[in-house]
Amino acid sequence: MRAAIEAKRAGVDVAVVSKLHPTRSHSGAAEGGINAALGNATDDSPEIHTFDTVKGSDYLGDQDAIEIMCREAPGDIYELEHMGAIFSRFADGRLAQRPFGAAGAPRTIYSADITGHVLIHVLYEQLVKHDIKVYEEFFCTNLVIDDGRCAGVLAWDVVRGGVHAIEANHVILATGGVGRMYYGTTNAFACTGDGMSLAWRAGVPLKDMEFMQFHPTTLKSNGVLITEGCRGEGGYLRNSKGERFMAIDAPNAMELASRDVVSRAEWKEIAEGRGVDGCVLLDLTHLGHKKIETRLPGSRELALDYAGVDPIRDPIPVRPGAHYHMGGVDVDVWGESIVPGLWAAGEVACVSVHGANRLGGNSLMETITFGRRAGQAAAERVLAEGDTGARIERSVLEDERNRINTLLNATGGERPGAIREQLAKTMYDKAGVFRTQSVLEECVEEVHALRERGRSLRIEDRSSLFNSDLVQALELESMLECADCLVTGAVARQESRGAHARIDFTERDDANWMKHSLAWNDRGEVRLDYKPVTVTKYQPLVRSY
Ligand SMILES: Cc1cc2nc3c(=O)[nH]c(=O)nc-3n(C[C@H](O)[C@H](O)[C@H](O)COP(=O)(O)OP(=O)(O)OC[C@H]3O[C@@H](n4cnc5c(N)ncnc54)[C@H](O)[C@@H]3O)c2cc1C
Repeated sequence: MRAAIEAKRAGVDVAVVSKLHPTRSHSGAAEGGINAALGNATDDSPEIHTFDTVKGSDYLGDQDAIEIMCREAPGDIYELEHMGAIFSRFADGRLAQRPFGAAGAPRTIYSADITGHVLIHVLYEQLVKHDIKVYEEFFCTNLVIDDGRCAGVLAWDVVRGGVHAIEANHVILATGGVGRMYYGTTNAFACTGDGMSLAWRAGVPLKDMEFMQFHPTTLKSNGVLITEGCRGEGGYLRNSKGERFMAIDAPNAMELASRDVVSRAEWKEIAEGRGVDGCVLLDLTHLGHKKIETRLPGSRELALDYAGVDPIRDPIPVRPGAHYHMGGVDVDVWGESIVPGLWAAGEVACVSVHGANRLGGNSLMETITFGRRAGQAAAERVLAEGDTGARIERSVLEDERNRINTLLNATGGERPGAIREQLAKTMYDKAGVFRTQSVLEECVEEVHALRERGRSLRIEDRSSLFNSDLVQALELESMLECADCLVTGAVARQESRGAHARIDFTERDDANWMKHSLAWNDRGEVRLDYKPVTVTKYQPLVRSY
């Protein structure tokens, strides 16, 4: 939405295509906040924000891209505020900022603990204000590449049925992450990596796919997130003996160490028998009624509804869950891919500002800053080039109609849900917080077998109206391709860096592995390749918190 607004402002004809109503996108579930070095709480600067992000990325983030985000973030926040975003404030009226993991200063701007909800509604209002056409509940099934450049998208109308061609000289993917390939995830059901696989099929490599972030505080029953803001506001993590175990791995930052560090510490506590029913405890009881009610009301509600615990009185059982995918479509600092006319921004993209581990609050910022930049750059290109002449041929549309019809009438093997469940379990068990060669190799084989099974599906709902069976089948294909890229990259990377923690290669290996992986589509198989990390100011250091 941020990209569309920018392109429209530049005077370009633009439309948004979304498989959900835009305000139902996963961004709306973001709780904790969005990072910009405003310096409202203590001294802060874009330089410190840059350093924290580079260190958080375990030196895999591209430093030029990180500098851009940290420098432009404050302006983007003020603009959101002027658009109407209601952020929480300090008593003196300035925008409030809370501490977040691995941040050198309290720099996370927030709207209580419903920040994403606020932002997504403000952006949607701007879509309406700018009179931007929205193809609501249109599921993009393929990109069209005509003579080497992007000519638009093919989309299934989820509400009314039917495949449509939407021609465009430039397409910006903003389709979000792929957490649903894991069982135990904070991600919404729609986070199925569609955009990554669309780009992959169109010949764009996916970068750093092996890096999936596990969030340390998710509820066991359904993976629902309890925001890092809880620890930012002073919450403790305890084991079954009541000990604050973060003292072992992060004696300085304690609960506010980087997410990969906290998730690994929790996993160890649970594995070594100091957990509570497969979880550790997030203790907010000492924060008091008033602070919990005013700063963390949503988290209290989630704990009450899904864990049956009132955090004012009792600690919340939590465990690591798949949360954010650092990898994605390989694009430059303007969001442009190697296929002319194809761009990406947000979680679907890998610019890369998060490297091997994202800092909480940096992702919402990335969607805004790089969304704006992609919208601006694509619009400038349109104005400079005019019509590129790329078209969607009638025959291309007919082929896609046939493909979808064949799927709709498929009576073969299994229902998509069964394979989806198996995939999620395999990924959680075999490519999770800790990884080893032999288990990852098993995982690759299983994912390949699942991809094979996924080629013969049975769709039981034959109707074309709101056919969620069909949508699930399409999403399954995306997740299977993304999973293949992820595990193939993970087997190859014989080091531990950020979220990729290998039991058999416990150290970071800058000499051999300080490089981005690129997963290419080689006639349906994953082929790996690598490219260098951009370093501007910060040489890699030992990372401790
Ligand atoms: C529970 C939770 C809490 C979080 N909290 C924070 C936080 O506090 N701070 C922070 O910085 N980050 C947070 N994150 C991460 C952050 O929210 C996400 O990375 C970010 O919002 C992703 O935004 P996006 O625009 O890239 O994708 P999304 O918001 O997921 O939107 C994707 C859009 O693409 C559309 N789409 C997808 N596939 C298709 C298709 N095939 N055809 C058509 N349309 C399609 C969808 O309809 C949707 O509109 C959180 C994430 C989760 C899951």
